Parts: sequence; structure tokens; C-alpha cells
Amino acid sequence: MKTYKIAVIPADGIGTEVINPGCEVLETIARADGGFRFEFTHFDWGSDYYRKHGVMMPADGVDQVRGFDAIYFGAVGDPKIPDAITLWGLRLAICQGIDQYANVRPTRLLPGLKSPLRADLAKDVDWVIVRENSEGEYAGAGGRAHRGLPIEVGLDVSIFTRTGIERICRFACDLARSRPRKKLTIVTKSNAQRHGMVFWDEVCRGVIKDYPDLDIDWMLVDAMTTRMVLKPGTIDTVLASNLHADVLSDLASAVAGSLGIGATANLDPSRAGPSMFEPIHGSAFDITGKGIANPIGAFWTAAMMLEHLGQKDAGDRLMRAIEEVTARGNVLPPDLGGNAGTRQVTDAVLASLESMA
Ligand code: ATP
Ligand code: MG
Repeated sequence: MKTYKIAVIPADGIGTEVINPGCEVLETIARADGGFRFEFTHFDWGSDYYRKHGVMMPADGVDQVRGFDAIYFGAVGDPKIPDAITLWGLRLAICQGIDQYANVRPTRLLPGLKSPLRADLAKDVDWVIVRENSEGEYAGAGGRAHRGLPIEVGLDVSIFTRTGIERICRFACDLARSRPRKKLTIVTKSNAQRHGMVFWDEVCRGVIKDYPDLDIDWMLVDAMTTRMVLKPGTIDTVLASNLHADVLSDLASAVAGSLGIGATANLDPSRAGPSMFEPIHGSAFDITGKGIANPIGAFWTAAMMLEHLGQKDAGDRLMRAIEEVTARGNVLPPDLGGNAGTRQVTDAVLASLESMA
């Protein structure tokens, strides 16, 4: 029987409350399938680890997870510790260390859920946003100088490389090609950012020559935000830089009803190292410890992990179980307008999975 070795890093806040339910769901699916199993290895890295050891994870942390088939990640961030330490010390260190250069975020309105968009617009939301995840505006290059003086400066340098743009564009084209509508929107801001973004456009124009079957259009990022709200049905696959896609995908998760349901995958498409799967929400300390965190984002990303591991049927089954629960609507967490806790929502999804088996 195939065994998938999964590195589990719940990390901070509600990350620690949604990931174990996610592991339960994965185990249930594997048991029902009978053809594969999971071996979970838990890592206690994160902000509490930082309090004890002065680092978010051990110096060889990236190497410790490199040999796994996938990484299942919770959330990172602590109100008392700067993001430069928490985010960069764990999540980004893993993404960059393993070169998970493609961040993929599917968005659609699950049955029964409400979007702030008008229903006739929201029903057409079925997007996947591809975010360049290794360089660009979040490359971490820059610095500070002349602190406290009138000439003080703060500098963030965006880094765009031909290799970086080419590989993410190719990835987005392949993904668009695998979807029924074969439609890709390439988002930049090349009217105002006249070096890196113009270069981005140039490199993408070269790559798309290999994809004549795709329906491709180009948008400036500001215009894209209005299109997502006013004409959501005209969008399918979206490619954007690290910063732009970060912003667009938060807008996307709002359109889909709640931050609590969104899922994301940090993929290493070369498969040289493991890919990392996480709900899109952060650590959300305002609700930590209350038992009300919505686990659906963690479940959806588990479905993405199953598909990535080659278990697409199992992933589809999990999505159907989630959709059955949202459609029924009687067991929903507070962020989706209900009053069920994390445990009850988990049990409802587990029951729905068992009834399919
Ligand atoms: P971070 O700083 O890591 O982004 P955060 O504390 O800002 O974390 P977010 O995840 O950005 O939290 O979420 C913003 C708010 O949305 C949270 O404070 C919480 O109230 C709500 N929220 C987010 N995720 C969930 C969830 N899974 N279930 C319920 N509510 C959630
Ligand atoms: Mg936040």
C-alpha cells in the first residue's frame, strides 16, 4: 500500500486548531479508499518554539522537511512578535528554501454560502489565482539607512528574473490549459512600474507563443480589482506577481464568502521537494482558544494535497463532503453565519465522508 509521509506544522493560533481535524479527515479518506495511507510527523515549530529557542524552527528545519511527500501547514503569526521574525523565519523560509515558486489559490462560492456580490454575479465565480511565490516585490531585498535623520530611507527592491517569470508563466498556462475554459488573464502594472513589470510582460509574451489554444488577455492590477467585482464570470485563471496576487487573492476570498474557507498550495512544480498546503487565513488570535475556528480552509487545502499526491478521486470526494455540509447549512461555524464549533463542523464533514464510503 502506498504510504504518504506528511510533515505537519500547525504553528500558531488557530493553525493549531484546524490542522489536527484536517489530519483526521485525511485519515478517514485513506481508510475508506484502502489504496493508500498517511504517516504524519508533527513539528512544534512556530511562535511558541521561538519563545523557547529564539528561532522559529531549527537551523536545519528546511532540510528536515525536504524528504516528505508534502507539508501540511497551519498558520503563522503572533501579535507580540514582528512578522519579519515569524513569517520570514518559518513560512517564507520553507517556501524559498524548497523553491515552492507557484502559489495556487482556487476561489469559488461553495453551495449554500453567501457572497457579498449579487447572487447572479457570484454564481459565476470559479477562479484560480496563480501567484509568483519566490521573488518579485517580496524578494526581501532592500534596506534601511540614516535612521532618525531627515535623510532616512527605507528601500524595498523588487526582483524579477527571466527564469522566475518564465517558469511561473508556463505553470499558469499549463494550469489554464487543464481547465475547461482555457482562459488566462495576465495581470501586471506595466504602465506605472516601467522596468520589472514591462520585463514581465515581455517574457510572458514569449512563453504564451507555446499556448496558441489558450484565450489570453492582459489587465492592469487596478482594473482587475473592478473586473473581479463587476464581471467575475469573465475570469478563469489569473497570473500575477507576488504582491499583486497577494492583494487579488484576499479580494477573491472575500468574494467567496469568508477567509475561513480559502485554501492555498505552495507548489514546487519540479517536484524536487515537497509542496506545502495551508489554509489562507492567518493565526487569528482574536478567536484562538474558543473552539470556533472554521476548519473548511484546512480541509479544502487537504483536498488540494490529495490531488497533488495523485489521489484526485479522494480529493474530489473530500470536496463533495465539504459541499454537502455547506449546502445543508445546519452545521456552519460563526464566520459563515452559523453557531457550530470546529469540532462539530469536522464531525459533519467526517459523517458526510463516511456516508459516501
Ligand atoms: P495574520 O496576522 O497571520 O494574517 P490575523 O490574526 O490577521 O492573522 P487573519 O487570518 O488575517 O488573522 O483573519 C482576520 C480575521 O478573520 C481573524 O481575526 C478572524 O476573526 C477571522 N478569521 C480568519 N480565519 C478564520 C477562520 N478559519 N475561522 C473563523 N474566523 C476566521
Ligand atoms: Mg491578517
